[in-house]
Amino acid sequence: MDFTLTHEQRMMVDTTRRLNEEVLQPILDAHPCHRSLPKAATKEVLQHLAQLGLTAARLPEFAGGPGLSALDYGLMCEQLSPTVAFILLPHETTITRLHHGCSEIQRERWMRELISAERIICTAATEPDTGSDPRGVRARIRRQAGRLVLNGQKMWISNGSVADLVNVTCLDEQGVLVRVIVDRQQSAFEVKEIPMMGLQQCHLSELSFADCCIPFDNLIEGTGDAAKVLTLTWLANRPIIGLSAVSLAQRAFEAAQEYAMTRRQFGREIGKFQLIQQQLADIETEISASRLLCYSALAAIDRGERANGVSAMAKRFAVSACERAIALSMQVHGSMGLSQELGLEQMARDVRMLSIPDGTPEILTLIQGREITSYDAFRA
Ligand SMILES: Cc1cc2nc3c(=O)[nH]c(=O)nc-3n(C[C@H](O)[C@H](O)[C@H](O)COP(=O)(O)OP(=O)(O)OC[C@H]3O[C@@H](n4cnc5c(N)ncnc54)[C@H](O)[C@@H]3O)c2cc1C
Repeated sequence: MDFTLTHEQRMMVDTTRRLNEEVLQPILDAHPCHRSLPKAATKEVLQHLAQLGLTAARLPEFAGGPGLSALDYGLMCEQLSPTVAFILLPHETTITRLHHGCSEIQRERWMRELISAERIICTAATEPDTGSDPRGVRARIRRQAGRLVLNGQKMWISNGSVADLVNVTCLDEQGVLVRVIVDRQQSAFEVKEIPMMGLQQCHLSELSFADCCIPFDNLIEGTGDAAKVLTLTWLANRPIIGLSAVSLAQRAFEAAQEYAMTRRQFGREIGKFQLIQQQLADIETEISASRLLCYSALAAIDRGERANGVSAMAKRFAVSACERAIALSMQVHGSMGLSQELGLEQMARDVRMLSIPDGTPEILTLIQGREITSYDAFRA
């Protein structure tokens, strides 16, 4: 498979890289690196991304998006820092999910402000007792006096504390998994920020809904199968998160390469020692393999092929390759590699965050195993 970039792809990649370096990174740098960004800054980041069409990347033009292929979207995400990618993905993914489920009237109501990032939306599926198995959801809605009443708790929700709208996965009175949009201006619910070890400028939140009243027309009725819509976006999100890991690993590699060329021990640059060269070669090999796996998973999705196995493989391989790349880069740097000043320890904490959402390594292994054997390990 040839992944030589076309002229248009090269332009998209360059524009996104410039936006990240010249506009978005300075916004992040203007705030403390160990605390979640203020809502205004999160919104500003999203609004810049909206100008490149990235907030509605997967929507067709008639729906207000650029109709990017999965590969083009991935190529652009690879240029963003993981923090920016993890601000974008929950918003963009939820917009895509909404597009696939909501009615024309609901689209009119919500889409314009979401695509322009005047308002932020997130998806709340995970609960304290329900993580990898999305069918274990306990949150419930019932109809009462012409309204919906939601009870339940959601955990680890990206952008949860800055979202204006929350796409909540819950059970209806018949026990069917449905989605309902909770609008903060209409409905009261509790939000708590959860401090995390990495990607600390992002928001990860716990949301509590106690007899939360929601207008009836916020129910997403377009599809009864909420789990299927979740899966649709997971498939592309996995290699896209893999590409976030690739961009992190690339930075670790470049730091190691530069250090190896300048740091001198035993009277010469450490890059002249064969063991250091092997460490650099190992990192570069894993980055190249990760990148190609992610691109090929996204290309398979674009060709309409079944991509469950390759998409799972791409994320699992890329994230663990990135962990190894950062560890090796730290090793090349000696004590300096462990210092907070250099930033590799921050990267080691950030990459741990990529490992869990949209499929843990164990879940991804079982998805791949199911493709290989046709045996479903999730159903005993
Ligand atoms: C950065 C980040 C962003 C997130 N964003 C969102 C979001 O926006 N919205 C949202 O709803 N959720 C979000 N999540 C939550 C995430 O989707 C869940 O954490 C994830 O699904 C795993 O669930 P869990 O943490 O409850 O772990 P569990 O599912 O309880 O798993 C615990 C451990 O058991 C393993 N395990 C589980 N089942 C099996 C099995 N069958 N075989 C072998 N091992 C197994 C897992 O791999 C894991 O190691 C986010 C999480 C993170 C870290």
